[in-house]
Amino acid sequence: MIQLQNISKTFRQKKNSHKALDTINLTIEKGEIVGVIGSSGAGKSTLIRCVNLLEQPDSGSVVINGINLTLLKGKALAAQRKNIGMIFQHFNLLSSGTVFENVALPLKLEKTDKVIIRQRVNELLHLVGLENKAEEYPNNLSGGQKQRVAIARALANSPQILLCDEATSALDPVTTQSILQLLQDINRRLHITILLITHEMDVVRTICDRVAVLDHGKLVATGSLEELAGNG
Ligand code: ADP
Ligand code: ADP
Repeated sequence: MIQLQNISKTFRQKKNSHKALDTINLTIEKGEIVGVIGSSGAGKSTLIRCVNLLEQPDSGSVVINGINLTLLKGKALAAQRKNIGMIFQHFNLLSSGTVFENVALPLKLEKTDKVIIRQRVNELLHLVGLENKAEEYPNNLSGGQKQRVAIARALANSPQILLCDEATSALDPVTTQSILQLLQDINRRLHITILLITHEMDVVRTICDRVAVLDHGKLVATGSLEELAGNG
């Protein structure tokens, strides 16, 4: 479903340049939960951001369901991006909007009918267990609740893929487990493929089918934890 083919990315600044990704090849099957691990600066964020072209690779292809996103621009790219939701470490919610408004945002941008938006947002809030928080503002929510809002928003356009950039790193261990439980639920019930970045091995142990290990921009291993332990 997701094929990253020979992805390379170099960040150039005034005097020096830094190869953040070096010819990455990675295939993720539909329905998998794959974790990207590696030390800080290994290129995890850059890699995951290449999947939805938030970051444009210098070379290589991002192929999703057989469509090469790296060849698309404008509306055609925007249409494919709707198939990819994303959540972040610091939630990135709109603090001036209610929970309802935050989740409704992607649907509003699509000019979805108001009645359908109300129905869909209620359904999403039910999915993440926040049906009674619709009129609350993000600042009045706990970290775990904020991430639930972000997850509901990421799922608004019914994507097949969810990208998670350190989605539990700002949360305590108990809240982390409950968010991982929700992600696993979403993966199983909605058949959404999940690609996540983490520096926490517990996250990998809890929900990942496979891990990809990055080191200085290179993919140095992929496999299940058991396979990697066997090879190590
Ligand atoms: P990780 O997520 O594994 O911590 P990143 O993908 O954020 O790694 O970064 C990989 C490398 O690329 C780091 O050395 C980082 O400083 C560099 N980098 C990332 N984004 C940029 C950018 N926008 N401009 C310059 N350098 C960047
Ligand atoms: P993370 O640890 O979540 O990867 P970072 O602090 O490395 O976060 O990066 C935060 C943001 O800054 C990202 O969008 C990344 O692309 C960008 N970034 C990272 N390193 C650099 C850098 N050296 N120069 C400019 N932007 C950077």
